[in-house]
Amino acid sequence: MASKIAKKLATKGKVGMAVAKVLIVIEIIVNKIVKYIKKALWILIILAVFLAVFVGVGFYGKAGFIKGISDESDKAVVANSEAAGGTLMGQENEENTVANDETVVVADGTDSIQDEEAIIATADVDVATQTEAEVTKEELEFNKSDWNLILVNKQHPIPDDYSFELGIISGSMECDVRILEPLNEMFEMAKEDGVQLVVCSPYREMSRQEYLFDRKMKGYLNNGYSYIDAYKESSAVVTVPGASEHQIGLSLDIISDNYYKLDESFELTDAGKWLKANAYKYGFILRYPKGKEEITGIIYEPWHYRYVGVDAAKIIHEKNITLEEFIEGL
Ligand code: ZN
Repeated sequence: MASKIAKKLATKGKVGMAVAKVLIVIEIIVNKIVKYIKKALWILIILAVFLAVFVGVGFYGKAGFIKGISDESDKAVVANSEAAGGTLMGQENEENTVANDETVVVADGTDSIQDEEAIIATADVDVATQTEAEVTKEELEFNKSDWNLILVNKQHPIPDDYSFELGIISGSMECDVRILEPLNEMFEMAKEDGVQLVVCSPYREMSRQEYLFDRKMKGYLNNGYSYIDAYKESSAVVTVPGASEHQIGLSLDIISDNYYKLDESFELTDAGKWLKANAYKYGFILRYPKGKEEITGIIYEPWHYRYVGVDAAKIIHEKNITLEEFIEGL
């Protein structure tokens, strides 16, 4: 290119000749520099490839390295080499025959090793993310028949053949043995936050539930309610025998050491607030929330917590739904 211009300039007087000479000298110098650069680049290619192989083996171990490079990285490498090769390799077409990995190394010069690491690392992250996603998906596959998701309410009484093992919370208080660990953990964490939780009503036998229900019924009947009205009112406050979660040992009425009443104001206590904000982390849900009375058939009970497992509890808590709604969505 320069020599052509130089030829033309040389025909245009003394000044032209002088400029032509300068151009030719510049061209010679540039050509020499390019030669040296080519040589240096080849040395860099070989060094970088060796380093990349060592780094790659370090990252993956033998099998992982081969897989990582051949599957994921190659695509990225090809993409990189097209872009980078085009700009930096310029007219050196013969070098495009060099393997893709090497082309990237040439293109990126001194950063090449880091880039290679980045490509490998990205592939590694992809694999990790994929595995994590699969695990999460697997974990989040709920089944209505899971022991911790059993729906018990007026429409869904406890099955006759339902059985489970009881574990001791303390003294004569019992619950399903499978929830003892998360329950204890929850109580410990509350304590660390300065909240002393107290279980006031754990697992109940059928006879106890019947007694509680009958007592409520009598109260309404004595106050002049018809049997149907008394039943309606009683069942909104005390769960119908055979349909209480207390009977399956998965629900607990929890209060604090400084507030013993089971009323709505419990929500304003430290214990009420702590439970509402944290119970789901241990697999427990506020079973009868405010505003959901139509769905649960039970009045708002800020003290009644039901174990459903951490994954389900998280969803129920975040979506602000009831167990009924959660089960229906499965
Ligand atoms: Zn309860």
